[in-house]
Amino acid sequence: MRIDLHTHSRASDGTDTPAELVRAAAGAGLDVVAITDHDTATGWAEAEETAREVGIELVRGMEVSTRHQGAGVHLLAYLPDPTHAGLEQALAKILAGRNSRVPAMLERLRTHGIAIQAQDVRRVSPGTAATGRPHVADALVELGVVSDRTEAFRQWLNPGRPAYVDRYAAGLLDVMAVVAEAGGVSVIAHPWGRRGPDQPDEAEIAALAQAGLAGLEVDHQDHGPDDRDRLRAIARNLGLVVTGSSDYHGTGKRDHDLGVNTTAPEEYARLLDLAAAAAERSGRATPQVLRP
Ligand SMILES: [Zn+2]
Ligand SMILES: [Zn+2]
Repeated sequence: MRIDLHTHSRASDGTDTPAELVRAAAGAGLDVVAITDHDTATGWAEAEETAREVGIELVRGMEVSTRHQGAGVHLLAYLPDPTHAGLEQALAKILAGRNSRVPAMLERLRTHGIAIQAQDVRRVSPGTAATGRPHVADALVELGVVSDRTEAFRQWLNPGRPAYVDRYAAGLLDVMAVVAEAGGVSVIAHPWGRRGPDQPDEAEIAALAQAGLAGLEVDHQDHGPDDRDRLRAIARNLGLVVTGSSDYHGTGKRDHDLGVNTTAPEEYARLLDLAAAAAERSGRATPQVLRP
């Protein structure tokens, strides 16, 4: 059984529509795929329809942008009730922060002599719930300023580069709490994806486990073999579920092909058990895993 629990569609910054994403997942030989767009559930309905058509197991989730102790943390939330008012409000605030950031970035680019307009960004991001840095990057590629997204981030959009603009981020613990209230489970995405003093160590991860964290995304392209071993050991010590995923973005991210990392079936089963328990505790009508 091949299980990929972290992918993006055009509902955030992937390049496939949700339908194309699910079809590609089936085509790549996956048995289970999770759609986890940034800060939105807007791709779920279309993904669901296609999953029924092609007969693949679909997990509905999202990747929420949070901040913890000064560092950005991506939190994968699986199977929360998307109509939970607290979750809806948190996502709306994050999306508003994302959207207001783009004009500020464009202004900075223009002060550096790059003639980029809002419509250039809109043209490369049809169907997205929130435009963000990846779309500005795509617009810079379109305009011929850089050759690809990676270069756009390196030269212009990363922290410390000329067009970087900070933005609102929700607190990690607050988002974990709201995900639990909405009946979902939380997994830290690529915990050591950004190297540096900000990455959470075992003590911090233990505190998060205490606060109800369900799992760690260990097998991710941003983690080298040593980091994977260490994270796996930490997860085992703390009883956390170990996931592995592609973080697929279509053509938007190199080296993140569907199924490039996968989650072991027994770990997936544990995650679903935790999700079922969370759903029961919350009393919410949570989305079920869609089985073919
Ligand atoms: Zn991420
Ligand atoms: Zn992601």
